[in-house]
Amino acid sequence: MIISVASGKGGTGKTTVAINLALSLEDVQFLDCDVEEPDAHLFLKPDIQEKKEAYIPVPQVDEERCDYCGRCGEVCAYNAIAVLKGTGEGKGSVLIFHHLCHGCGACTLLCPQDAIHEVNRAIGVIESGYAGDIQFVHGKLSIGEIMSPPLIRQVKEYIKPVVNTKVAVTGKKVSNRKNPAGTVIIDAPPGTSCPVIESVKGSDFCILVTEPTPFGLNDLILAVEVMRKLNILCGVIINRSGSGDKKIEEYCENENIPILMKIPFSREIAVLYSRGLPIVGNIPGFKDRFKNLYSTLLKTSYETNNSN
Ligand code: SF4
Ligand code: SF4
Repeated sequence: MIISVASGKGGTGKTTVAINLALSLEDVQFLDCDVEEPDAHLFLKPDIQEKKEAYIPVPQVDEERCDYCGRCGEVCAYNAIAVLKGTGEGKGSVLIFHHLCHGCGACTLLCPQDAIHEVNRAIGVIESGYAGDIQFVHGKLSIGEIMSPPLIRQVKEYIKPVVNTKVAVTGKKVSNRKNPAGTVIIDAPPGTSCPVIESVKGSDFCILVTEPTPFGLNDLILAVEVMRKLNILCGVIINRSGSGDKKIEEYCENENIPILMKIPFSREIAVLYSRGLPIVGNIPGFKDRFKNLYSTLLKTSYETNNSN
């Protein structure tokens, strides 16, 4: 089962939920896809065993072959190529704006002169290792780089191969259900833009973490809309519960969205956080609460798959 943990805004406790859920389960892969600001490693403290550069393929033009027809500039949906046509005796030019290039390959494919080939451009690194029994992977986008979705895609390539499993849920068998081996937990970036969509795509369930404030509600509404568009099951965890109003509960009730858990506004939790320590293992009862949360997600996913 692939579970992503997201939030419409930063600072709601998304990573806290992701790491504590991971620490409560067995056979877990943890992918930190918040590649602009990965911080799960501060809490899980993995032993990093492999580090590799992440690249995207960007076009390089052979000026000997190019006739400055302009086709590549027309097909690029991201305005990453501009073609200056030659005038009279003056030679033309093809300008490539590498930071805008998504590495889609369209210009290479459609160049009528076969004048483009692709070269790799480094955008960050991927580190992997183990935090106890948890297989840990995170991406780190290079400073000044803006193209996080290709790096997120490469982090997600670490998800263990899909296998045909018969998953036991509530005592019954789910036939022919395709699942990755074990449980994959994805810590998504905050917000509702492309990096979030890239991170949560393919998830069986998305936990939306919010806080009881007007900003929390506003950004939760946006995040729920995104999950509905992507057809991903979602539920809400209210962090710092008790510190604000009841508008999140009212919204969830009206929209028929389950509230999966409430994490209290507590000095003890804040102190643990500031020391880079998880709640699970430090405050009694939380491991069982996260295990129960997992059972709820499995059950919800099972019931939904079997009602469709
Ligand atoms: S499509 Fe090919 S030939 Fe035309 S301008 Fe671009 S690189 Fe040059
Ligand atoms: S690879 Fe795609 S995004 Fe990059 S310049 Fe070519 S068409 Fe544009």
